[in-house]
Amino acid sequence: MGYKEGGRGGQNNRFSTPAATKEVPVPQAIYRKAVQPALLNRPVGISFFRGGCPRSPGSTGYQAYILVTGIRLGSTGYSFLGVRDTGMTETGRKYRFSWILLGDIKAGRPNLGPATRVEVYRLMQYTMRDILEQEFGTEKADEIFYKAGLLAGKEFYKNALGTPKDLNDFVSRLQQLLREMSIGILRIEKADPEKGSFVMTVSEDLDCSGLPETGYGICTYDEGFIAGLMESFTGELFDVREIDCWCTGDRTCRFAVDRRLR
Ligand SMILES: [Zn+2]
Repeated sequence: MGYKEGGRGGQNNRFSTPAATKEVPVPQAIYRKAVQPALLNRPVGISFFRGGCPRSPGSTGYQAYILVTGIRLGSTGYSFLGVRDTGMTETGRKYRFSWILLGDIKAGRPNLGPATRVEVYRLMQYTMRDILEQEFGTEKADEIFYKAGLLAGKEFYKNALGTPKDLNDFVSRLQQLLREMSIGILRIEKADPEKGSFVMTVSEDLDCSGLPETGYGICTYDEGFIAGLMESFTGELFDVREIDCWCTGDRTCRFAVDRRLR
């Protein structure tokens, strides 16, 4: 494979300018200590913007994740020996989601660990929602949140939930994970699997528990998240609506979950 890496910073825009493909001297000690562990057998994101993608001339953006399976240290720098496409390559996108983007938290936060404070999550969510509403209007902002939740639900199912063998197994795995990750305490209040109709509650919800009462439910992202989980588990489409929320004066969030009629 003809990939050449020009030092750690060279992985972005590698092909956008001829200078970026030049090998840069890397002292052996640094290579062994930092470069090799950082790159070998780990997915590495590479992006091309100004120059477009070499495989799709004319495109304006390109993102790929490659798995580096071998690195050779030369006299003037290092080159990738084996490179495997991870299948997450897409043209025209800078921000396609991948579970890999959640990062290697153990390596990245050896002292601080995987947890943060709930305020930080809410700060991110509610400033994002403010700007989305200003830019696109309330309805569109809600739609974006729902769709983001839907994507999160599908990815969570695929990457965190394993392979549940039946509905009970699915629910208990989900309850356990949501609790372990301090997302919320899930209960199934009503279930009619034949009809595809459920009522679920989430207490101590990450998104809304403790917020001021506004008179309307705000857990649009969670609606999408539950829909994504249900869709992944059943292979069918679901509509999820929050019917009670901390923000409507209730002390738990309650979701009506219904299989979409075709
Ligand atoms: Zn809520």
